Amino acid sequence: MAAPISGTQAPGYYRIKVGDYEVTVVSDGGLTLDHTLFVGDEAGAEKLLRDAHLPKMGIPTPLNTWLINTGKQLILVDAGGGTHFAPSVGRLPQNLAAAGISPSAIDAVVITHPHPDHIPGVITGDGNMLFANATLHVQEDDHGFWTSSEIRGKAPEEFRGFFDLAVNAIKPYAAAGKLSLYKDGTEFAPGVRAVACHGHTVGHSMVRVSPSGGDFLIFGDIVHCAALQFPDPERGVAFDTDPAMALANRKKVFDMVATDRLLFSGGHLPFPGLGRATKSGKGYVFVPVIQGEM
Ligand SMILES: [Zn+2]
Repeated sequence: MAAPISGTQAPGYYRIKVGDYEVTVVSDGGLTLDHTLFVGDEAGAEKLLRDAHLPKMGIPTPLNTWLINTGKQLILVDAGGGTHFAPSVGRLPQNLAAAGISPSAIDAVVITHPHPDHIPGVITGDGNMLFANATLHVQEDDHGFWTSSEIRGKAPEEFRGFFDLAVNAIKPYAAAGKLSLYKDGTEFAPGVRAVACHGHTVGHSMVRVSPSGGDFLIFGDIVHCAALQFPDPERGVAFDTDPAMALANRKKVFDMVATDRLLFSGGHLPFPGLGRATKSGKGYVFVPVIQGEM
């Protein structure tokens, strides 16, 4: 039977139960990155990418955010790129709507790190709070770094826009008295807490979700390309503020999730960005969650 070619996709959200809580991975869309942004020998990168059926240039790079429903509070972790990289990014509002969530229902937004693909989505195109009733939680060292005009002035020209995007996103929340600075161990809700994992930025943090009966780790941006960095964790990314610390923490977190067989998600893992890791050779194998598993 003839049928029209629809050209549309299912909305980008995916739900899992984590003990008493529900976590919804909500897609903000995706970006592309080139292999030249990653540390390591080119021949090795080419082989890893070819084996993963990925191009060397313009590697598809998803952008995930997470909505944690504790039953009493709605906490969003990261908010995507907003209008900055539209239209490939900035799909959080439409995917939240598809998931039945109004931005005004969200109580808190926790930012793993205030990079241009994680924080600009907290504001509307005209610079107002998208999440009108939410407290914005930014790690204290990251806040100090990304709002410093002195550090901005010393940064390479191509990174100065990063500072402006962070400042603009934070501004309306600070003006409304809705900005809160967090540190290692800060608890955003019972069983939802920050875990320091610095290096990608000076305050980059993970969020551990461990309510009664569940345990889940949102590890933020320790991985920007699963196909390159699980098999070879030494392959860092150009955006790391402190590459040595970022590498040490990537190895530490990979070891922990593999040893503890812990379910995790990351900002740039293939949507829905949920899986586990198994040690293999000098690196790890990423094992995605199978739809219907939970
Ligand atoms: Zn990112």
